[in-house]
Amino acid sequence: MRGRRLLYLLASDDCFGMRQKKPSQRVHSKETRQDKTQAPSPLQQTQASRYQAECSAPRPGRVGKRWSAGGRTHHHILGSKHHNLLPLPPEQEHHHNHHQSMPSTRIRPRPPSSILPFLLPALLLLRPASAFLSLRSLTQRPRLSPLHATTGTGVNVLYSQRFLEHKARGYHPENPLRVSVPAQLLKHTPGVHLKAPTTTPDAALAAVLRVHDAAYVEEIRALSARGGGNLDADTFVNGATYEVCLLAAAAWMDCARQTLLGDEEEEEEVQSKELVSTAAAAAAVGSSIQKKAGAAAAPARVRVRRPSFALTRPPGHHALAGQGMGFCIFNFAAIAARYALDELGCQRVAILDLDAHHGNGNEAAVRGQPFMCYASFHQKDAFPMTGLDPNNHGPHGNLLNAPIPAYSDIKTYLPLLDEKVLPFLLAFEPDLVIVSAGYDCLVDDPLAQLSLGPRDFEAVGERLLKAFGRDKIIFGLEGGYEPENVAAAIVATLRPFL
Ligand SMILES: [Zn+2]
Repeated sequence: MRGRRLLYLLASDDCFGMRQKKPSQRVHSKETRQDKTQAPSPLQQTQASRYQAECSAPRPGRVGKRWSAGGRTHHHILGSKHHNLLPLPPEQEHHHNHHQSMPSTRIRPRPPSSILPFLLPALLLLRPASAFLSLRSLTQRPRLSPLHATTGTGVNVLYSQRFLEHKARGYHPENPLRVSVPAQLLKHTPGVHLKAPTTTPDAALAAVLRVHDAAYVEEIRALSARGGGNLDADTFVNGATYEVCLLAAAAWMDCARQTLLGDEEEEEEVQSKELVSTAAAAAAVGSSIQKKAGAAAAPARVRVRRPSFALTRPPGHHALAGQGMGFCIFNFAAIAARYALDELGCQRVAILDLDAHHGNGNEAAVRGQPFMCYASFHQKDAFPMTGLDPNNHGPHGNLLNAPIPAYSDIKTYLPLLDEKVLPFLLAFEPDLVIVSAGYDCLVDDPLAQLSLGPRDFEAVGERLLKAFGRDKIIFGLEGGYEPENVAAAIVATLRPFL
């Protein structure tokens, strides 16, 4: 393994054309200037104007990287595909405006005011029932309610062997072992409910298109259909990648839905009671009764809520709206967040990124969205050289970056979590917390130089449980390239929830 270590060069942020501007240099829209002068708290900002500032997503350019393999050193250039963020297609435009009240979309032609007093009663008189129903269908979407679900023990783990099908031709640190090894351990961990994703590919695609440009999604589909190719020197696509990525998006969506609203399961206690009474009835009365009793013993089904973990790959937190990078194709945390806001009734969603690398894609997805917030721990001076200013909270005050020096261990990590990151997330009052659970911050990881031990994550899990409880937290795998350590760290993270 050591001969195959892959190192990111310490690229200057100028390489990305995204050096953080000083506040005075930044160009603000009218609304964001207003936010700045009034200096509201992050919470006030989320509850205030729904105007969304244009998303100032990072636009990566070139960065050098050295790949040492088999004793030889290769130099690559990353980011040669210059995908800037494109204008949204009409359906996404509509979607975005769902949460942001741009004046142009709110103004609708109205009938003359003198007609209004007569128009509505006339409509109701003509077809009152159908008018009411159609009005209702426009304003309400059928939703399950968490009130009808019970809180269960343990943790859901969403996993599929199909996640192994996305693989590079030669050696690559982002390989199937990253999920197959943790899956084996989780399978034998008491309290883990291993489940296959159930969201359909069509529903997953619709959710992906709310975050990513349609042209980019089509580019990935077509490339995958042709058998694959490289998006850059790091990021590969093969024949299975497109479907695997849709399935991974489905898994993250399942996590959000099952944790917030519950998943239908057999109630074991009810089932066992039914079986006991069935046996007693059969012994007492005879075989004719046994058939009827057997029919009545069908296991009861209840909806159960519990925390969830999406054991998926490839990772997603570097993926931008129109560009894959850093092994990432689609941004699953952003997809799950958007899905929770649009389909699950959430008002505010928080993303906590534990990966050793800054989630530039996560930040880009959140930056212009006052109903999301993002906090990240990451190693300073590491790929992708973003998120380096802990005082830059974005135009909506909903960003918190906590860069930490190389070789930092849990002693640096926990005080930051306790004193900065958790208070920031709690002040946002999220309905859902999505943890971008990257484990390349573990000691001995080949792609980063942080020094956390797998067991340290139990302390992280304990704090997350204390802060957010069991009913609104989900996790999804991002980086982490030492599979045995990753497996142990996942179990440690989840142990307080099991
Ligand atoms: Zn990473």
